[in-house]
Amino acid sequence: MKTMTKRIAVIGAGSSGLTAIKCCLDEGLEPTCFERSDDIGGLWRFNENPEDGRASIYKSVIINTSKEMMCYSDYPIPDDFPNYMHNSKIINYFRMYAKNFDLLKYIQFKTTVCSIKKRPDFSSSGQWDVTTGKDGKQESAIFDGILVCSGHHTFPNLPLHCFPGIEKFKGRYFHSRDYKFPYEFVDKRIIVIGIGNSGGDLAVELSAFAKQVFLSTRRGAWIINRVCDDGFPLDVVLYSRYKYLIKQFMSISMLNDWAEKRANARFNHENYGLKPCHRIVSQHPTVNDDLPNRILAGKVLIKPNVKMFTETAAIFEDGTVEDNIDTVIFATGYSFSFPFFDEPSLTVHNNKIPLYKFVFPADLEKMTVAFIGLIQPIGAIMPIAELQCRWATRVFKGLNKLPSMSDMKADIAMKKKDMENRYVESPRHTIQVDFMEYMDELARQIGVKPNVLSLLIKDPKLAKEVFYGPCTPYQYRLKGPGVWEGARQAILTQGDRIIKPTKTRVSDNQMMDHLSSVPLLLKAVAVLFVLAAVFFNFSSFSALRI
Ligand code: FAD
Ligand code: NAP
Repeated sequence: MKTMTKRIAVIGAGSSGLTAIKCCLDEGLEPTCFERSDDIGGLWRFNENPEDGRASIYKSVIINTSKEMMCYSDYPIPDDFPNYMHNSKIINYFRMYAKNFDLLKYIQFKTTVCSIKKRPDFSSSGQWDVTTGKDGKQESAIFDGILVCSGHHTFPNLPLHCFPGIEKFKGRYFHSRDYKFPYEFVDKRIIVIGIGNSGGDLAVELSAFAKQVFLSTRRGAWIINRVCDDGFPLDVVLYSRYKYLIKQFMSISMLNDWAEKRANARFNHENYGLKPCHRIVSQHPTVNDDLPNRILAGKVLIKPNVKMFTETAAIFEDGTVEDNIDTVIFATGYSFSFPFFDEPSLTVHNNKIPLYKFVFPADLEKMTVAFIGLIQPIGAIMPIAELQCRWATRVFKGLNKLPSMSDMKADIAMKKKDMENRYVESPRHTIQVDFMEYMDELARQIGVKPNVLSLLIKDPKLAKEVFYGPCTPYQYRLKGPGVWEGARQAILTQGDRIIKPTKTRVSDNQMMDHLSSVPLLLKAVAVLFVLAAVFFNFSSFSALRI
């Protein structure tokens, strides 16, 4: 009997949704992607006017994960693209990916997923009724599986209740999601609240235009750099299998000591008013190369939490007051939810939802829904979302089995406990994962984690780069389902792609190196020529002296 191709609903056509479509196709599933806006790219498609239900960024956002670490595993980012891309380049890359794999035809634009309900026979079929809305009309269809790719940086967390007096404040206040350009803030006195990556970026950018920027933080932060050793991107330097092995021999306190020492060597966090009470690995990292410069220049002043606002001033918890404040920006992060699900086990409480390996809800009778990209990695989301999709599509097809419900729940509980032990309590720390560790964990589920020892026998050159080089996503295309024949070459050339966009001028030393590759005869002629020139110069110099 012929089996029917399974139909999968993909919700959202951001970076997670695009790879979800591709992974469905790779596994022979039939994807239909619903995207509420009129284009792909999700958060990475800049628009001056924030849209309901879609994440919104500021014009200047530059990603803080580098191109070789953030690309999809079978589609390297062009070698001339910069390592840390501006959002306009990122959306270009996503467009190239969608075009290359012909993904657009599976997307229904301007179509919002309004509700997803279990079918009456869900416990046997695992099917869902998906209702979508377009141009005021609703439609329903049956799907065998759901890939939720709706993002988690859409709904602003605006904790006004924590700031008494804000209702009386006569200046402007808004969430960082609504910040677009710095020009309208020329000569203003601004308070930015929150020192995540949005708070850091906004404070730095505004400080070039504003009269004064105050960056308020309730617990301080360790600040790390995009530009790491020898000018290589941070994630390229940090994430290798070799370094990971060394890390296994370090206690968490040794790791903290090492990382804090490096952060303090750049600038002393205590002297800059930034030193928190917690250790460096207990908070999602704030990456900012410019903040210390702006503090040193006095354009950004670090302040504690705001205790209360008056009509014109902010009173901070240390009793200091700053008056004549024009603008307050709440860079206070996001909350997430999935309002389209009519399912108690899929309700989010305070940014918490129990998911097996952050993907599968353990409580469902049938594993036909997977959450994609619902993680906050210390590293890039995109290749992780891709691996999650590769796993989820194989689970949907029945090629990979999940453990029993009780084993999944035990794993969820353990991860929750680990996270609580490691991170300071905050709604921003509920979906934290470590980049390499989590990628490997997902890869093991599918059978695509590279085996360095067996590689060493078969292909020592490749094994060396896989072990010592950055742990790029191509590593997960070397073996097992979804092998990509270009993976070896992509790994062996990753160093060239990292260097190319920075080496836009050939230095004099290199010209000399270039000379060394000139044939011997030509070199001999050149040497004779130089000697002759020296001799004649010397003679004329001597003649002059006489
Ligand atoms: P999104 O990009 O948010 O896309 C979700 C899509 O789903 C949207 O197109 C939306 O319109 C659609 N959608 C939502 N609900 C529905 C519905 N009901 N029906 C139909 N469509 C729907 N990550 C990194 O890895 N590196 C970084 O450096 C980095 N920088 C960031 C900078 C900022 C300022 C922010 C806010 C986030 C950053 N992130 C970064 C995280 C970011 O969330 C991911 O990079 C990425 O955008 C996640 O992609 P996504 O597809 O999961 O979600
Ligand atoms: P975030 O990481 O959640 O940071 C929110 C900040 O606001 C934290 O400092 C938090 O402090 C503070 N905060 C929250 N509630 C508060 C309250 N009631 N009172 C005082 N302070 C409060 O949010 P984000 O900075 O917008 O970043 C969101 C995501 O986008 C992250 O993944 C980030 O890496 C990413 N991002 C990346 C870039 C980039 O690549 N250039 C730029 C921006 C954002 P606590 O720590 O004390 O909770």
